[in-house]
Amino acid sequence: MGGKVAVDHQTAKNLLGAFYQPAGVVSNVAFLATRDRRQLASGLAESIKKAVIASPAYWELIEQNAEAIMARDLDVLEHVVHGAAAIKTVLVERDPYEDDLRRPLNFGHTIGHPLETVSGYGNLLHGEAVAFGMIVESRIAVNRGLLAPAVLERLIALLERVNLPTNSDQLPVAVDTQSVLEAMAIVERIRAGSLRYVLPVAFGETLIADDISQEEVRVALSECGLGTPAAA
Ligand SMILES: [Zn+2]
Repeated sequence: MGGKVAVDHQTAKNLLGAFYQPAGVVSNVAFLATRDRRQLASGLAESIKKAVIASPAYWELIEQNAEAIMARDLDVLEHVVHGAAAIKTVLVERDPYEDDLRRPLNFGHTIGHPLETVSGYGNLLHGEAVAFGMIVESRIAVNRGLLAPAVLERLIALLERVNLPTNSDQLPVAVDTQSVLEAMAIVERIRAGSLRYVLPVAFGETLIADDISQEEVRVALSECGLGTPAAA
């Protein structure tokens, strides 16, 4: 679903690659029953992301069925996969070659990708990085007064129910704040000097900010247990 075919580089995630649209997509949800809990949760992180950016109804489906999903209830999994596919198709059709970097699908990835880069694409799964990234980015939104703290709390609660990391002590790798900020600065240079953040405003609603300061990022990272904010 979506035509991005890219590989990671030590400089940045998904740095080398192309776009090639598939002729078709087959989703065999029974396959999910063969994955361990960690891999299943990692995949689910992207579904939770789609719920936050695009659909309160899809959010409720996952929130009400998180345990059934983790128990690989095939009926529930089929609804979850179908919903994710429907949301992604609509969002990707608008911008199949990712010309517009203001993509709501990037929620959690502005922080998540550099986190993967500094961890060496090994012990940290993509969905785990995205889960942690969603919380950091949501904290930036809360600190700007854009997102109600109660929505952040619901997101944290759901991610914790499926054992996805929302705090640095739950990450499977040790991460150093300075390295994350440096990896973000590299992405910023690759993107001609601008780093865009998808900030959630409510379930199904986001806005794009390209003026987030490094200090705001530091504060949000420290609220997630990473480092301490620099002295003013
Ligand atoms: Zn992703």
